Amino acid sequence: MEERIEEILSYLPEETRLVAVSKYHPTEAIIEAYEAGQRVFGESRVQELVGKYEELSGAYLDLSWHFIGHLQTNKVKYIAPFIDLIESVSSLKLLEVINKEAEKNKRRIPVLLEVHIAQEETKSGFSQEEVVELIRLIHDEPERFAHIRLDGLMTMATNTDDEELIHQEFSSVKVLFDEIKSSGLLSEPEHFTELSMGMSGDYKIAIQHGSTLVRVGSAIFGARN
Ligand SMILES: *Cc1c(COP(=O)(O)O)cnc(C)c1O
Repeated sequence: MEERIEEILSYLPEETRLVAVSKYHPTEAIIEAYEAGQRVFGESRVQELVGKYEELSGAYLDLSWHFIGHLQTNKVKYIAPFIDLIESVSSLKLLEVINKEAEKNKRRIPVLLEVHIAQEETKSGFSQEEVVELIRLIHDEPERFAHIRLDGLMTMATNTDDEELIHQEFSSVKVLFDEIKSSGLLSEPEHFTELSMGMSGDYKIAIQHGSTLVRVGSAIFGARN
């Protein structure tokens, strides 16, 4: 596993971090990656994440957890005390619930807004127009979102062999990211720094378009069941 992690890291520019997507893999696999130096892990199911957190957080104090999957509003409370970044905010309602649960925990929760760019309808997220609208709303009503911190955008490209399409999709989200960053619509532009793009099959394309977080699962841990 160490060689696989190191190979991926060797492709990443200085500003890009690796999120090891450990979903469906046991805690032993996480420990192995940890011992190879990996610290940031991505999970997509609340129950699985909470179980792993409870098992590992006492012994591995600097483990960092990102939530990357579909998040149901009624489950936010289980991860709100400890989650380091929620990458997959895909509705205003969800953002409001995250804000409320963060307040209960007397913290701010960093979030990314998920942009829907892929051709598959099954993937979630905001359209480019909706993202800008939401950022305007957050800017106009800061007290309503005081317990979230807007750290950037996340996206998934179409699952395809057509590399040209993947390039186009990542490129258009990068353009959107830069437009937002320079729009004057961010109350804390210094925190809007993360562009989460790229998985096992397309992270080498994503880094060419300014990805700062690549979410890599199977290329590290092998196939999932
Ligand atoms: C599962 C998952 C990944 C990792 O996928 P791999 O192809 O195994 O690298 C990345 N991002 C999200 C949102 C995922 O759900």
